[in-house]
Amino acid sequence: MAKETTPVLTPEIQAHTRTIAEKITAARSVIVFTGAGMSTESGIPDYRSQGGLWDKFTPVYFDAFMSSETARIQYWEMRMDMEKGLKNARPNPGHMSIAQLYETGHLTAVITQNIDGLHQASGIPDEKIIELHGNTRRVRCMSCRTLISWDAAQQMILAGDKAPRCDCGGYLKPDTISFGQAMPEKETRRAAELSLKSDVFIVVGSTLLVQPAALMPGYALDAGAFLAIINLSPTPYDDRCQVLIREKAGPVLADIAARVR
Ligand SMILES: [Zn+2]
Repeated sequence: MAKETTPVLTPEIQAHTRTIAEKITAARSVIVFTGAGMSTESGIPDYRSQGGLWDKFTPVYFDAFMSSETARIQYWEMRMDMEKGLKNARPNPGHMSIAQLYETGHLTAVITQNIDGLHQASGIPDEKIIELHGNTRRVRCMSCRTLISWDAAQQMILAGDKAPRCDCGGYLKPDTISFGQAMPEKETRRAAELSLKSDVFIVVGSTLLVQPAALMPGYALDAGAFLAIINLSPTPYDDRCQVLIREKAGPVLADIAARVR
């Protein structure tokens, strides 16, 4: 898929992709860090952008979800609306290019703020993907912690259950980090550890404004890593990275993957 893309990149960007590819080729530990801009090319809107989900729905905070049936129903209505954009979303050339780095042994891990499961769908195994905000294609019981698939939960909704529950009676909730909910400790720690050990750290499609995501490139820099940023808008690390590319993720990543040996 990635190989069929013929990116029209400026000579300046191609000089950057060449540098990044050389660094990846020589690296021991390559981390790719992805945010919403990674998935927009798959047709998934940036939920925080104008016209995104939060223009249409009021966010349901975690405490409200746990204490109010009305809030739970509201939450699931929002999630079902979100499904319209998610159900047909497929990995784009950018995802496939990262998967290509994995297949050729050049990828240590992906750290992602995305909840869409598209890195898994691109063929990268679960254990190589650290999800800082969870994954909305899994659903978890808030009491016994059991996981069920999105499809199983959706079946319950479509059968008329407006706020489905686990067999144990606990509230089922997509396995993502809601507003007001604590960040996943294990994932956050693992992301920090990997960032501190990386020698190439590539940010794709994130403005790096949300914590703890915003800390990870700093850890990588502290460790002496080469930092590259591929993002359409400014980030707090633009002055500190070695390479900055203002372009869509797909064609840039395809060009990088094609150059890595
Ligand atoms: Zn349960």
